[in-house]
Amino acid sequence: MIRKYLILILLWSSMAFGQAFDPDSAFHFLTKQVDFGPRNPGSTGHDKCADYLAQQMKKYAGNVEIQKFAVSGYGEQLRLKNIISRFNPGVRDRLLLCAHWDTRPRADYAERNKDLPIAGANDGASGVAVLLEIARQLSISEPGYGIDIVLFDGEDYGLVYN
Ligand SMILES: [Zn+2]
Repeated sequence: MIRKYLILILLWSSMAFGQAFDPDSAFHFLTKQVDFGPRNPGSTGHDKCADYLAQQMKKYAGNVEIQKFAVSGYGEQLRLKNIISRFNPGVRDRLLLCAHWDTRPRADYAERNKDLPIAGANDGASGVAVLLEIARQLSISEPGYGIDIVLFDGEDYGLVYN
């Protein structure tokens, strides 16, 4: 399901920005995230990546909100951060682009090391990398309409039931 949305976003962004969308830049944003290590809530990588994403978005969008919240569940208390960036915040008609930035705390479907967190290059970093590149393009070429980019936290937590 995530891959279908990614393809739609890529198609839309290539139509909206033509040749301006830079896949090398998007890939750079992906490797920057993965270099922090696993970004599951409570990890060091999670803290560092949240700071990085907020810092990057503040370069591109004039209006960035860090929405901090806590969630109890699975015997844990999670401290989470959604990163919300608004382009043309005064415009009523808006387009929402979103992806989750956190990564799974367990490699449920792996054949080994099932209890270790995943690196999250595809499931986590890839969607965010595309959105960071779109944000960078929006900072260069202002859209005539409102766009909100939300990087969700805590989306990939939870247990897998078989
Ligand atoms: Zn996911």
